[in-house]
Amino acid sequence: MRTAKRIDRLPQYLFASLDKKVSNARARGIDVISFGVGDPDRPTPNHIVEAGARALKDPGTHRYPSYYGMPEFRAAVAAYYERRFSVTLDPDTQILPVIGSKEGIAHLATAFIDPGDAALVPDPGYPVYETSAILSGGECVYLPLTEKNQYLPRFEEIPEDHRTKSKLMWLCYPNNPTAATCETGLFQKAVDFSRENDLLLAHDAAYVEITFDGYTAPSVLQAPGALDVAIEFGSLSKTFNMTGWRVGWVAGAEKAIEALGRVKTNIDSGIFDALQRAGIAALEGPQDSLEETLSVYAKRRDALVDALNTAGWVLQKPKGSIYLWVPVPEGDTSLDFTEFLLEKAGVVVAPGSGYGPTGEGYVRFSLTLPDDRLEEGAARIAQALKER
Ligand SMILES: *Cc1c(COP(=O)(O)O)cnc(C)c1O
Repeated sequence: MRTAKRIDRLPQYLFASLDKKVSNARARGIDVISFGVGDPDRPTPNHIVEAGARALKDPGTHRYPSYYGMPEFRAAVAAYYERRFSVTLDPDTQILPVIGSKEGIAHLATAFIDPGDAALVPDPGYPVYETSAILSGGECVYLPLTEKNQYLPRFEEIPEDHRTKSKLMWLCYPNNPTAATCETGLFQKAVDFSRENDLLLAHDAAYVEITFDGYTAPSVLQAPGALDVAIEFGSLSKTFNMTGWRVGWVAGAEKAIEALGRVKTNIDSGIFDALQRAGIAALEGPQDSLEETLSVYAKRRDALVDALNTAGWVLQKPKGSIYLWVPVPEGDTSLDFTEFLLEKAGVVVAPGSGYGPTGEGYVRFSLTLPDDRLEEGAARIAQALKER
C-alpha cells in the first residue's frame, strides 16, 4: 500500500522518542516522576460528573447529536462570554461546539489553508497549529516568542512576503509552553494587523481561566473589531479537569465559524449530548472547584520555582497556565538536558525544541502532578545537578 505524501511532510514527533526512553527507564525499575504532559491530575468536579451520569442514563441523549451542538450548550457558552468578558455573541451564528478544542484547531486549517498558503504560528507553540497547516498542503511562518519580548509576537517585524502568503494567524495566551500572559493591547494590535493583512486571527484560550496573583486573562473577542476578523477556541479541559471528556467550542467571526462548521459536518457528527449537558453544568454550576484548582497550581508553581531558584535558576513566577518555561544550563541543548534529567534524576520534562526552533535552550515543566511528587522531583533535580 502507498500512504499519502502529506504524511511524510509531518515533522518528526520529538516526544515519541522521549516516550520510549521513559518506558525503558521504567522497565529498568526507575521510579520516574513526570513533569512532561499537561494533563490535570485532579478529578473532574463531582457536580459535573453527576450531571454527565444523569444525562448518560437518559435515552434522549443516545441518538446522533446535532451537528451544530445543543442550543442549550451554545447558550451556556454565550452566557459565559457575556458574564466573564462582556462580549455579546449570537449562539446560532457565532458559537460552534468542538470535540475538544484540539479537534477544532486541527480542522481550522482545512477551512482556511490551500496548498501554497501559510499559517503564522507562534514559535515555540502548540504543535497542532503547524501540523494542521502541513496536512492541508500548506506551510508555516514562525512568529518567534523570546524572553526579551516577554514571549509576545512583534507583528511589525513580520516580513511583507510572509504577510501576503498567510491566511491565518495563531495566538495563545496564557501561553503553552512559555506560561506568558498578555494584556488586551496585544489583542488589539493582532486584530488590527489581521484586518490590514486580510487574515483570520485564531486565539487558543485553553488557559484563559488558569491565572494567578490577581491577574485575569482577557479574551481576544473583547478587542474592538475582533468579531469581524477573529475567533477564539475555548475548552473545558484545563478549567474543570476535563481533558478526557472532549468538550470545547469556538466563538467569534461568523464567516470563519460557518467555514469550520462546513468542514466538521462533513467529518464528524458532533459531541455526545450527555457530554454537552455535563459541559452546561461546568459552565453554569458552582465555580468554587476552579478556585481550588487555581490555589493548587499556584502552590505547586511556588514550590517548583522556589526549589529551582535554590538550585541556581533565576525564574519569575508566571501569572498563568500550568507550566514553567525553564532555560537549560549553559552548554546543554533542550534534548541534552531532558536526557540528563531522565538518566540522573528519573525526572521527565518536555524539551523546548519540540515546540519550535525558538524553543531550543528551554524545557517545559508541567504542574499537573501531586504535590509530594513535585517536591521529590525538584529535590532530585537539585541533587543531580550538584553531582554533575
Ligand atoms: C490542552 C491544550 C488545548 C486543548 O485541549 P482540548 O482538550 O483539546 O480542549 C489546546 N491548546 C493548548 C495550547 C493546550 O495546551
